[in-house]
Parts: sequence; structure tokens; C-alpha cells
Amino acid sequence: MEFFRLINEATSIAIAGHIRPDGDCVGSCLALYNYLLENTENKQIDVYLESVPAAFSFLKNTENAIQTAKQNVTYDLFVALDCGSIDRLGFTEELFLGAKHTVCLDHHISNTRFAEYNHVEEDVSSTCEVLCGFLEDAKISKETAECLYLGIVHDTGVFKHSNTTRRTMDMAGRLLEKGVSSSKVIDDSFYRKTYMQNQILGRCLLESILLLNGKIIYSFVSQKMMQLYGAVASDLDGIIDQLRVTEGVEVAILVREEGVQHHKVSMRSNGKVDVSKICCMFGGGGHKMAAGCTMNGSAHDVVNNLSAQIEHQLKGYTTE
Ligand code: AMP
Ligand code: MN
Ligand code: MN
Repeated sequence: MEFFRLINEATSIAIAGHIRPDGDCVGSCLALYNYLLENTENKQIDVYLESVPAAFSFLKNTENAIQTAKQNVTYDLFVALDCGSIDRLGFTEELFLGAKHTVCLDHHISNTRFAEYNHVEEDVSSTCEVLCGFLEDAKISKETAECLYLGIVHDTGVFKHSNTTRRTMDMAGRLLEKGVSSSKVIDDSFYRKTYMQNQILGRCLLESILLLNGKIIYSFVSQKMMQLYGAVASDLDGIIDQLRVTEGVEVAILVREEGVQHHKVSMRSNGKVDVSKICCMFGGGGHKMAAGCTMNGSAHDVVNNLSAQIEHQLKGYTTE
């Protein structure tokens, strides 16, 4: 795909990611924003994100540049990053539909190829890694490198998920050479938790339930609990990973009540179960080992439906 031909030809560019942006989404959007700002002239470049978790606020231009509401602009080019389907764009969907040209760079297996030009590398760790492949090394500043490094760190769970390849490590190494402080990015954006976040983590672990002879671990966060702690969705980041590393577990499920009979589901697999396949069945998506969806019904029904699918896949796995 001629990504840079489109960038060069455009005088106005919108950059946006998915709703409830995570590290890879924020990292890739700000990396492209900073890169273009530093290396191009006479272009209007705007970056749109729904909200940015406080832990990412040290990235360059997080505080001043991000637009959280759409402007009345018809862009020459709209670049969607880390977004697998048009409905995940959220408030920027209209800007996308109104833009003269659209590009999507992504790595979700469930990507629907919704843009005019789609570049999806399903086996690549993160959108930051995909994007890094397009950028000229000499033009990447320390600040842009920090954004890319943060995204890679988050989507690889600090280089431990199976999506971490030699190329991932090589790219991360090149970013370190730009002067990025690895321990700062990892500690400040990934491991550091507020007291409130740790309290919720503790409760989720304490109240977790094992199903299917310990192959599934499940935890539930009610709206009441979110209100009690004054928490937002991103305060739960990392909880699902702690559930997943429980010995004997194949799949971890975290269900967050979003409304009456309305739940956000996060799933993580340890390898045998393709959780993207299951989330796709329920209108969501993601990756083989990490996926999500929203489901209607009681939390009990949600878990029953998901565990039936997990059991089905595990049965197929053992008889293969
Ligand atoms: P989460 O559990 O929300 O952290 O999401 C895990 C992975 O699945 C991420 O790569 C998300 O982008 C993706 N994902 C989560 N929810 C959805 C959804 N409703 N539709 C498509 N992809 C999703
Ligand atoms: Mn993401
Ligand atoms: Mn990603």
C-alpha cells in the first residue's frame, strides 16, 4: 500500500484509533501525529482519541493536541490505527465517512477491511510495530520512539505474549537507540497502579470463580463496584492478565457490567482456545489470544454462553 503517497498528497489529515483507547492505540496515533508534525510542512494534522488514560500522559502532545470531539472538517485523508471495524471508531466515524481518502493500519485478525486502503498484518504484535515498518528510521525522534515503544510494550504484555517476534525485539531495540527509557515507559505506563486500581484488582482475584475443572477463570465487575471506587474502564487494565496466569487456566474472562443486562467482555487465552473466534460470534473481535465483545443478558447467561463455546473448542482440541 502506498501509505506515504497518500500522506504526501493530503493537506489535511485526521488520525484516529478505537473507542476506549489502549496503549497500542494511543501510542500509534501519537507516534504518527508526532512523526508527521516533525517531518512535514504545510499540512493540517489532527489526532482524535476518545480519552487517554492518565498513565500515558507523558507521551509528547498527549496533553495539548488530542481532540476528544469531532470538528467540522472534511479531511483529505483519514488514517485509522489499531481499529478492526468501522463501529469501533466511535465519535470519529462521521469524519471517516466524510474524508476524501481513508487508510487503515492494523493487526486485528477480525479486521473487516473497512477503509479504502487497508494494511493489516495479523501476525504482528501491535499497530505500533506495523506503523514502525513504514517510518523512516532517521526521521523518528526520541518522542515518537517513546510512543511506538509504549504501544509495543502494551500489546505484547512487556514482550511476553506469543506475538513477540525477533522483528518486534529488533524494532524495540532500534527505538531504545533513540534514547527511550525502557524502565520508565514500562513502569510508568504498564505496571504502576493507583491504590484504587489495586483495590479492584484485589477484589477481582478474591471473587474470581473457576469453571470447567479450572480451565476457565471468571470475574465480574458490577456498575455499583465501579461507582464505589470511582473507576473507569481503563482502571481495569491488567486484571485479565493476572487472572490468565492462574495455574491450569486455559481462558480468563472478565465481565464488566455496562448497563442493565449489558456487559463488556474481555477474554484471554493461554493458547488452546481461539478467543477471537468466540468474540466474533457475539459481534466483537480481536486476536486469537486476546479478544473482546459486548453482550446482552445477565452476567450468568453471558458466562454460560462463553463457557459453552470454550468447552466446545477444548473438546475439539483434545480429540485432534
Ligand atoms: P480488551 O479485552 O478490551 O482489552 O480487548 C482485547 C483485544 O480485542 C484488543 O485488541 C481489542 O482491540 C479487541 N477488542 C475488544 N473488544 C472488541 C470488540 N467489541 N470488537 C472488536 N475487537 C475488540
Ligand atoms: Mn488496541
Ligand atoms: Mn493493538
